[in-house]
Amino acid sequence: MSQKLRILVPIKRVIDFAIKPRINKNNTGVETKGVKFSMNPFCDIALEESIRIKENNKDLVEKIHAASIGPTKAQDILRTALAKGADTTTLVDVGDQEVEPLNVAKILKKIVEKENSNLVILGKQAIDDDSNQTGQMLAGLLNWPQATYASKVQIEGDSVTVVREIDGGSDTLRAKLPMVISTDLRLNEPRYASLPNIMKAKKKPLEKIKASDLDVKIENRLETLKVEEPPQRKAGIKVDSVDELISKLKDIKAI
Ligand code: AMP
Repeated sequence: MSQKLRILVPIKRVIDFAIKPRINKNNTGVETKGVKFSMNPFCDIALEESIRIKENNKDLVEKIHAASIGPTKAQDILRTALAKGADTTTLVDVGDQEVEPLNVAKILKKIVEKENSNLVILGKQAIDDDSNQTGQMLAGLLNWPQATYASKVQIEGDSVTVVREIDGGSDTLRAKLPMVISTDLRLNEPRYASLPNIMKAKKKPLEKIKASDLDVKIENRLETLKVEEPPQRKAGIKVDSVDELISKLKDIKAI
């Protein structure tokens, strides 16, 4: 008999993807003051996929639980998740503390246990630190099968088939629940939350806890030495003919 799905969707609050990040004065990271923050786009795709699984498979999904580890303000993205279709949420409030992927994975493992989740759908990477580690580490800690870079997910009973995007083609995997899936860009196009649902989500309760409530001690192992902008590109020149182009390329020994 197929089991009901209890899906965990971890979502991270990051600088909005449409904003060009600026490096801070001390070259230790990006400037976060006065900048718009949103849900990490790959997490939005993970949430959308969970909602579609729920909508397309009557009675299959018991619950979609969204969780975020971050500052109190990460409540905003959890409210957005509720407005889009998540059933419940947890904020693990860590204030302004940086939390490396291994610590995020340790916290998520505890949330999986607490929520009795049997499927985790999360982003392939957070666009702020581009780590691309959390899903893999979580699968390792849970000892669950994982499928990364999903571009298609199909669930039949306890069996999950995932098509993965790989260089120059696709790779189709099948595993039994419980499992971890990380989402790629082409899996789906996330919906916008409707205004009535945004209003309703404002009234829904949000669970707020600390990492210590889950018995996780956040111990970072990495030290950021320097964050730098890429070198400025030099202006190009215009040429009037192909001959001139060839001669210029010869001058700079490009041909
Ligand atoms: P990363 O390994 O940091 O590139 O992140 C990959 C995915 O892990 C993200 O798309 C999220 O789904 C999840 N994740 C990473 N950090 C957090 C966080 N602080 N809170 C919730 N989910 C996170």
